[in-house]
Amino acid sequence: MAEIDAEAGTDPYEEERARLVRQVRARLESLARAGVATLPKSPERPPVPRPAPAIVESAPGPIAAPPMTPPPVERPRPAPTPPTPPQAPTPPPAPKPAARPVAAPSLFGSNEFKSPFVEPADRPAALEVLRAEVAACVKCANLAATRTQTVFADGSATARLMFIGEAPGADEDRRGVPFVGKAGQLLTDMITKGMGLRREDVFIANILKCRPPENRDPTPQESSNCFGYLERQIEIVRPEFICLLGRISASTLLNTALSMSRLRGRWHRVYGIPTIATYHPAYLLRTPTAKKDAWEDLQMLMRAMGLVIPKKKG
Ligand code: SF4
Repeated sequence: MAEIDAEAGTDPYEEERARLVRQVRARLESLARAGVATLPKSPERPPVPRPAPAIVESAPGPIAAPPMTPPPVERPRPAPTPPTPPQAPTPPPAPKPAARPVAAPSLFGSNEFKSPFVEPADRPAALEVLRAEVAACVKCANLAATRTQTVFADGSATARLMFIGEAPGADEDRRGVPFVGKAGQLLTDMITKGMGLRREDVFIANILKCRPPENRDPTPQESSNCFGYLERQIEIVRPEFICLLGRISASTLLNTALSMSRLRGRWHRVYGIPTIATYHPAYLLRTPTAKKDAWEDLQMLMRAMGLVIPKKKG
C-alpha cells in the first residue's frame, strides 16, 4: 500500500489506482472486522491461449509504432466463498431382483421373459384360460365376422420347440387347429420323419388366430392386435427354441424386412430364445427345390437341441 501511495500523483492512472486501493482497503478492513485474518490463495489458472493473428496481405508501407498498453492494474481479490455443505450420502442402488427360473438353460444365455414363470404343471391350465380369451376376441372386426372359429394352437404346453407360422388357412379355420392342410401335413413330416419327434412334443401356433379372408397376408394392424396372444403363449410355454415358418412370421417376430434367403441358416433371438427362420411349408410345396435349404435349417436346429441327425441313405 505504501508503495502505491508513494507513487500517487506521478502515475498517469493515478485516479483509477487510488479508487481501487480504496476499495481493496475497505474490503480488507471489513473482512478484518469479521475476523478474517488471512485470505486463501486463488488457484492458479492456466494461461489463456491467444488466437493466432490473422495473416493479412497488404502493400508494404512505413512500420507503425507499437500501440501503448496501459500498465497492469491490481484487481481486488474476491471474497472467500463459504465452504459448500457436505452432500447427503447417495443411497446404495436397489438390489436387482433375482432372476426368474427358466424351464431349461438357454443355448445363448439367459432368457428375457417379462411375465412371471408358470410352473410346467400349471401351463396347460394357463393356456386354456388364454384360449378362452382368444375365442371371444373381436379386436379385428372383419376377421371376427368371417372366421368359423379362432385357431389357438396345437401341441405340448411344455414343449422344448415352438413353431410359429403366420395365420390359419381354410382347413385350419374349419378344424380350429393350426397346420392341418397340405402344408400342415408337410410340417408334420418335417417334425416326425425329419426331426424324429412327435407332433404332440412341439408347440405350433400362428401370429394371427383368425383366418384372413382369401388367405391374404395379415395387415400390420391385425398382427399388432393379435401379437399379445402369441407373446403370452411364448411366455407360458417358454420353449427353449423357436422356429419361424415363412416370411411374414420371420419379418414380424424379428422386426426386419430382410428376405427369407437372408434370414435362414443362422440364429436369431425372440425374447432371448434361440430362434431360426425357414421356409413356410406352403412355399416348400410350391418350390420343392427349397426343401434342401429347409432341411439344412432343421439340422442346425437339431444339433442345438441335441437331437440325432439321421444319416443320409446310401
Ligand atoms: S386375429 Fe387375433 S386379435 Fe384379431 S380378432 Fe382374431 S384373435 Fe382377435
